[in-house]
Amino acid sequence: MTITTVSTIKELRSILDGARADGQRVGFTPTMGFLHQGHVSLMEAARQDNDLVVASIFVNPLQFAANEDLSDYPRDLARDTELSQGAGVDVLFTPDVSEMYPFGPVLTTVSVGEISERWEGATRPTHFAGVATVVSKLFSIVGPCRAYFGEKDFQQLAVIRRMVADLSMPVEVVGCPIIRESDGLAMSSRNVYLTPEQRAAAPVLRRALDAGLAAIENGERSGPAVQAIVAAMLDAEPEADRDYAAVVGAGTLAPVNELSGEIRILVAAKVGRPRLIDNDGLVVGA
Ligand code: AMP
Repeated sequence: MTITTVSTIKELRSILDGARADGQRVGFTPTMGFLHQGHVSLMEAARQDNDLVVASIFVNPLQFAANEDLSDYPRDLARDTELSQGAGVDVLFTPDVSEMYPFGPVLTTVSVGEISERWEGATRPTHFAGVATVVSKLFSIVGPCRAYFGEKDFQQLAVIRRMVADLSMPVEVVGCPIIRESDGLAMSSRNVYLTPEQRAAAPVLRRALDAGLAAIENGERSGPAVQAIVAAMLDAEPEADRDYAAVVGAGTLAPVNELSGEIRILVAAKVGRPRLIDNDGLVVGA
């Protein structure tokens, strides 16, 4: 089937309402475009589980701070359309800013409290309110659906799960594993900003996570000790400027002193221009 591209809310609603009236289950993958295999994996998961798959491409100004890369965020709609079609997307929603925010700056925003404040939220204080606002708007446009998000943005996934639960949104949130390059670097649209030297250094995030996981597997049960191992690995790479290395509970995202249960290690570092994030986890038995 060929993909249908729509750029107005009205057209999208009419297609999706029709599909639901026919008893079809809708799968939804929101993205900012410049797609890679990470995005494709979400679309393929949506294809597996649902009758009709919609993906959105919208570079959302609300989630960028003034000093961030909104104006030169990479874009390639022709390639994105091809990749989406190949992944089995039925409808591609590509609104422009005036379609999404016709009245200019929004007066109504969604903020998800404490879970948004640490880690990414500490460095990017307005980011998660921008994400939660646009995702709730997209959910309201798309309607009842299963929505697919990557664990690559682990805190974002937690924020969205909490928002959906708190506001009883008619959406089932599905988290999908991180897709990586062969050397371990998590795929990201922003990886194109890396120079060859920075690209060679960037897998240090994966190696730092591995060092933390290995320490836990070898019996280390102190969260701060594991955090120090991960941070030291990042700090040993001259191209990487560490923002944080954190050992947290996978549900709360709060730091854990005595490791037990589901643990996640989160890292963020600037490598040249882009700020890269990554994470991995494990379950620590009693
Ligand atoms: P973005 O276009 O960066 O806003 O990302 C759109 C969706 O793709 C989000 O749910 C991301 O978590 C997900 N995503 C981005 N990179 C990856 C990756 N390497 N593996 C899996 N999912 C990803």
